Amino acid sequence: MIETMKCLVKSKPETGLWMEERSVPEIGDDDVLIRIAKTGICGTDIHIWNWDEWAQKTIPIGLIIGHEFVGEIAEVGCNAKNLKVGQRVSGESHLIGRQSRQSRAGRFHLDPETHGIGVNVDGAFCEYLKFPAFNVVPLPDAITDDIGAILDPLGNAVHTALLFDLVGEDVLITGAGPIGIMAAAVVQHIGARHTVITDVNQQRLDLAAKLSDVVTVNVTDTDLRDVIKTLDMKQGFDVGLEMSGNEQAFEQMVESMITGGRIAMLGIPKGVSTVDWTPIVFKSLTIQGVYGRQIFETWYKMIALLESGLDISPIITHRFSAEDFEEGFGEMIGGNSGKVVLDWNN
Ligand code: NAD
Ligand code: ZN
Repeated sequence: MIETMKCLVKSKPETGLWMEERSVPEIGDDDVLIRIAKTGICGTDIHIWNWDEWAQKTIPIGLIIGHEFVGEIAEVGCNAKNLKVGQRVSGESHLIGRQSRQSRAGRFHLDPETHGIGVNVDGAFCEYLKFPAFNVVPLPDAITDDIGAILDPLGNAVHTALLFDLVGEDVLITGAGPIGIMAAAVVQHIGARHTVITDVNQQRLDLAAKLSDVVTVNVTDTDLRDVIKTLDMKQGFDVGLEMSGNEQAFEQMVESMITGGRIAMLGIPKGVSTVDWTPIVFKSLTIQGVYGRQIFETWYKMIALLESGLDISPIITHRFSAEDFEEGFGEMIGGNSGKVVLDWNN
């Protein structure tokens, strides 16, 4: 029986992360122990690495970080009768309460008592993860470990893309980060007419074009209004997915929506932002905030989309052994990568 494991820890209140040796966690009756195979580095992990204001307020020192993972069940608690040792799994990183009105009505993703692995409790950047059986999502063989490791952010993309009906509609995505790029592929796969993605970073727009035939627009040198004309759109976009967290990008989105258009807002603006409400009112726009993903409906849908031919594999631009985590974080901090996957197999 293995007793200790490697794990990536926020050991000190300063920039960086440290590989530590810890005891393999003991599981409870309602838990499973997952032997981690691969993990994805998320923007959240970069906030934790950088020890920014949010991280300082949120992350307890000594926390094992990470929440995007795939692995194999190594041990099953006595109440987890539906799961088996050896099963390949990923899982919902948000741990929900069971008492709120939302949770009791089955709207798990809206539970206000939600806390996250790798943010509030020990996370998945380790060899063995203690995880509630309720949160486990078994994976079909068709989903590789690489893709299994990034289902969490794909879930953000799918949940946002499915919020409004966009079959046959013209869709604008602002922000070609990993989530925006995956969202563009999803939107195309499910049958939007035109899909346009904007960014200020050409490398990321080029990556977006590798995943789908989305129209890419670098807003530093191209006017979005010209693109609308070129595509022969009459008024503007029917649906907007805000995935940059950038104030100018949001302003540009509002400006290019049709009257009665709908915006799903996943991007998290830095601090307080200025919003000109007048065009939002006059255009009767709907703006819906989006957090996480539906538990477990989005998991069902995204696995089905992958099984029906959605290919997001080019979004993984870098792979490292977990030992080389510093290089992986370096690529993410550089701001030009897609997803970076760490391999925990020895
Ligand atoms: P990211 O930071 O990698 O990507 C954001 C992209 O926006 C970058 O490529 C950046 O160059 C681009 N951008 C900057 N200025 C722009 C402008 N003026 N116009 C267009 N694009 C511009 O982030 P990500 O990991 O892909 O996540 C996307 C957003 O969603 C982030 O804001 C993140 O914080 C947020 N997020 C929210 C949730 C949630 O549950 N609500 C979950 C995950 C991520
Ligand atoms: Zn994530």
